[in-house]
Amino acid sequence: ATPTALLTGTGRASQLGILIKGPQILEDTRHVDTIVLDKTGTVTTGRQAVEGVVALADRSEDQVLLLAGAVEAGSEHPIALAIVEAARDVAARTATPVDGGTGASGSKTDPELPALSNFHSTAGGGVRGTITEPDGSTSTVVVGRNNWMDENAIALSADHRRILLEQQQAGSTAVWVAVDGTVAGIVNLQDTVKEHSAAAIARFKELGLHPILLTGDNAAVAAEVAAEVGIAPQDVFADVLPEDKVAAIKRLQAEGKTVAMVGDGVNDAAALAQADLGIAMGAGTDVAIEAADLTVMGSDLVQVVQSIELSRKTLSTIK
Ligand code: ADP
Ligand code: MG
Repeated sequence: ATPTALLTGTGRASQLGILIKGPQILEDTRHVDTIVLDKTGTVTTGRQAVEGVVALADRSEDQVLLLAGAVEAGSEHPIALAIVEAARDVAARTATPVDGGTGASGSKTDPELPALSNFHSTAGGGVRGTITEPDGSTSTVVVGRNNWMDENAIALSADHRRILLEQQQAGSTAVWVAVDGTVAGIVNLQDTVKEHSAAAIARFKELGLHPILLTGDNAAVAAEVAAEVGIAPQDVFADVLPEDKVAAIKRLQAEGKTVAMVGDGVNDAAALAQADLGIAMGAGTDVAIEAADLTVMGSDLVQVVQSIELSRKTLSTIK
């Protein structure tokens, strides 16, 4: 390919809001036959909303949500944003106004969440922190998925696991909330598929790209999203830890596939770097953008379609 044509293609790309790390990328794009799509934030809006809470011990649903929100305040994950929002709603609803209130001690008007310290988060796992209540009492709160509970030595009973599975089978992303080493409840969240995802995936297929859904989320949620956007059940890789996302890409490459990966999160960065073509969503995190070959400025898969179409056009003009 002539450098001039590639540079023209690069210019056209930037007009479309597609940023390319060097003209060579357009040429690489042509060879791609498989497109791996991260679910959360890529195929779905990534804007989660809390659908419900299951209290499993001596704390109320509101208390479970408040404690979870207080620790999630340290995270930027879509799950965290949703839990914090729901917890603030609880705080606002349960706050007792100073005037006209009952005058009960400890009453507050500000829907602030309890203070957070010792915050720690693990990508694709969850969060942990120390919560200080207004009365000065502290507790350690852990929120996240099964393996994150295991890592924090939180025992999950067979009954609790069964309840979690029920929530997941109903299509929820369900996360555990543990307080001081014991499970206190489950928060259920739901996400929505982006408006143009199904159309973009249909177009990938027309362009000869085989779509695969890759996610750290549970299999039931992943299957539901896949069905909605036209990805075959056998092309869904669910419950994949961030470090295993790389292995999934490598496995496809070992099968002789030339793989594009589209992702938005910190947890996708290594897989984006491993892919033959890493594509970051511009609305995603800087780490993902840095690891990618190509970044689409919007938050829509349509621009990913456009990049592939553009590279094909650019290179056919050259021929
Ligand atoms: P995806 O691959 O779909 O983008 P992630 O790898 O970011 O998803 O997260 C995978 C799973 O890890 C989530 O479904 C959730 O169970 C858990 N998780 C990750 N971050 C958090 C968090 N801040 N709070 C609670 N759970 C989390
Ligand atoms: Mg993601």
